[in-house]
Amino acid sequence: MKKITIIGGGQSGLQLAIGLLQNGYEVTVIQDRTGEEIAAGRVLSSQCQFDAALNTERRLGLSFWEDSCPPVEGISFTVPAPDGPGKAIGWAARLDARAMSVDQRVKMPRWLAEFETLGGKLVIASADIAMLEAEARKSDLVIVASGKGEIGKLFERDAEKSMFDAPQRALALTYVHGMTPRPDYSAVSFNLIPGVGEYFVFPALTTTGPCEIMVFEGHPGGPMDCWKDAKTAADHLAMSKDILNTFLPWEAERCRNIELTDENGRLAGRFAPTVRKPIGVLPSGAKVLGLGDTVCLNDPITGQGANNAAKAADIYLDAILAQGDKPFDATFMQGAFDRYWAYAEWVVRWTNMMLLPPPPFVLDIMGAAQVLPGLAPRIANGFDDPRDFFPWFAEEAAAKAYMSELEAA
Ligand SMILES: Cc1cc2nc3c(=O)[nH]c(=O)nc-3n(C[C@H](O)[C@H](O)[C@H](O)COP(=O)(O)OP(=O)(O)OC[C@H]3O[C@@H](n4cnc5c(N)ncnc54)[C@H](O)[C@@H]3O)c2cc1C
Repeated sequence: MKKITIIGGGQSGLQLAIGLLQNGYEVTVIQDRTGEEIAAGRVLSSQCQFDAALNTERRLGLSFWEDSCPPVEGISFTVPAPDGPGKAIGWAARLDARAMSVDQRVKMPRWLAEFETLGGKLVIASADIAMLEAEARKSDLVIVASGKGEIGKLFERDAEKSMFDAPQRALALTYVHGMTPRPDYSAVSFNLIPGVGEYFVFPALTTTGPCEIMVFEGHPGGPMDCWKDAKTAADHLAMSKDILNTFLPWEAERCRNIELTDENGRLAGRFAPTVRKPIGVLPSGAKVLGLGDTVCLNDPITGQGANNAAKAADIYLDAILAQGDKPFDATFMQGAFDRYWAYAEWVVRWTNMMLLPPPPFVLDIMGAAQVLPGLAPRIANGFDDPRDFFPWFAEEAAAKAYMSELEAA
């Protein structure tokens, strides 16, 4: 029986670990926090996942929240008018299939329990290089799925694939109860405030039941880069409301009666989007393979990280099964990552584009979505598979050709 060790029991590591157990592999997960500690800790993400990523979990029988998690049924997009209280652009479209966000404080403890029920070996420890060396001697394959954890620095930054070397947004999350639902259908309500940042909000399931997750993406040094002044949970909530009162009155209106889901229902931080080379070499020369955010870390602006992590786990699972009795050597490792990168490259490109000031042709597309039939649903459903944005969302000539086609129709 082949032995595989995975460092990191998050979205990608646990999904892959459980998939491997179901296929008869002997799997060890080294995870730095217990399920109880995760459940009682700070929120980690806003983790909205779309249909294709959810299907990778459904195929493994891991989607335990289909009935309890409120659905996200669409995407709305708004740009406030530059000099007034109204909207310059505003549209909404339904997703073909619902999205869902299950708080990782709910999901990971349940998946950790499932992993152990299926016979997986869980070691609670913060893995260091010595531990990786020991695992590399014992296992046929060591995978590092430690997210933004320090151990991931073992993997060299890929300068060609990484557009930025500094954080592009000041990030904050506020998990709340009591928000007024948007009319018609639930959605990721995405607001782009030029020069200031982005705000989006959607329904989710947290430790205290259904909630709404507010996500703030402030330009560094701008008015939404303000979280260091929020010393308490109450400050954080007040600051969240202040931002909406100042820039997005229609969103502020929905928040008259909000309260934090819990003291830990808030987060603030920043990181540089980074792609790393997929093979890490230990001092002994042993090689380990990176998975998920460890090797492909995106800004959350497009809500793709957990989607990518699920899809990466799915691709690595297939690659490991296909390898059969052959060794998990460097050729295998590079091949598994390349299969993932053939997809993820497009997600990274789109996400990085969204971090830059939108060129006029992109604003034209977003404006045209208000009137051109089919355009708004296409943009909304692109969140499920961002490859569909290329080339028409990325290249001016292709954008013009596509708009003309829609106008003619
Ligand atoms: C503010 C914010 C909002 C987001 N919103 C969304 C969204 O709406 N949609 C979306 O798809 N994605 C979103 N993401 C991204 C998403 O949460 C991540 O991309 C996803 O969780 C990555 O999965 P992973 O398995 O790579 O890493 P993680 O889920 O981070 O798991 C890594 C695990 O490894 C553990 N670990 C770390 N170091 C060690 C070590 N040395 N030893 C043992 N264990 C270790 C960690 O504790 C953790 O449990 C968001 C992220 C942020 C920060």
